[in-house]
Parts: sequence; C-alpha cells; structure tokens
Amino acid sequence: MGETHRPGRIEVVCGSMFSGKTEELIRRMKRAKFARQKVEIFKPAIDTRYSDVDVVSHDQNTIQSTPIDSSSTILLLASDIDVVGIDEAQFLDNGLVDVCNQLADRGVRVIVAGLDMDYKGVPFGPIPALCAIADEVTKVHAICVKCGALAYVSHRLVHNDKRVLLGEQTEYEPLCRECYQKALEKEKSEKQ
Ligand code: ZN
Repeated sequence: MGETHRPGRIEVVCGSMFSGKTEELIRRMKRAKFARQKVEIFKPAIDTRYSDVDVVSHDQNTIQSTPIDSSSTILLLASDIDVVGIDEAQFLDNGLVDVCNQLADRGVRVIVAGLDMDYKGVPFGPIPALCAIADEVTKVHAICVKCGALAYVSHRLVHNDKRVLLGEQTEYEPLCRECYQKALEKEKSEKQ
C-alpha cells in the first residue's frame, strides 16, 4: 500500500456458534497480511480451549494471536499495527467499544469477531454496542441441526447456568427459532 491513505474503520463479524465467525476473521486478517500490512489478533485470555498463542478455529485454520486480560491492553500493544483483529470479543469488558473507536480514529482497521447472543438468546457483552458503532456489520449464520434452516441461537445441551461455558460440538447445537422454542418446551415438560 505504501503511502496510500487507509482510513480507520470498525468491522464486526457476529453470529452464533458454528457460524464461521473466526474463519471469516482469519480470512480477512490473512488477506491483509498478504498485502504486507501489519496485523495482530487479540483474544481474551479466558478462551484457552485449544492454544494460548494461536487463534484456532474449529477446522484448525490458525493465525497467531496474543491473549489479553483487559481491552485497554490492546491500546498498549497495538501501536504500529495496521489491522487489529479481536476474536471471541463477547468475553471482553465494555471498555472495548471505546478502545475500538480510539484505534479507528488513529487510522487502524479493526475487525471484531464474537457471539452476538449467549445460549439464552441474550445480547452478549460489548458486541451489541460494537455493532452500533461499526462501519460494517456482517452477521453469519450456522445451520439448524434439526431442520436445516438458518440457525438463530446456540442451544446448550448440558445443564449448567453459567453464562461462560466454552463450546465444543457436544455441548451446544445451533437451532432456528422454531426448533429452539420446541427444545425449550421439551426441557420444561421433562422437568415437571
Ligand atoms: Zn430448525
């Protein structure tokens, strides 16, 4: 790109589990890296499912990343970076909204990937606010495992009320609205 002016911007890639969010983040980051832009991915230290230093998506397509405890750390570590990626952003604090704005104002392209809703369908962490301030929002969808329609929510199969329960294929299933309602009714009747 040389001296070409690149304006800062915020892109959000959100959706349910198994919708390909991380894959889409990695695709954009790799393309920028190929164009010799300086890229760096940050992710919350809480997400230790596969590896501490790599963002690893479910199909093992990896790109190196830096684990962080707080959104403010990104400002300290991202000086001199052209494209900042943030994965699993729903687990970060609400300060992330201001951090993304500050980076974009500096001319940085920021790409945020995260779950839009938790397993109960409630908007998750800083993602809703990030969607509001983003220049571009991409909502990606999984496929409902019951009927093949576009999924709406990640239904939790194990009984645990903790909001943060890191996902494996066996613990969640993507469902459309209709199949999600049916699943909730079935669980309710089984409890009685
Ligand atoms: Zn369905």
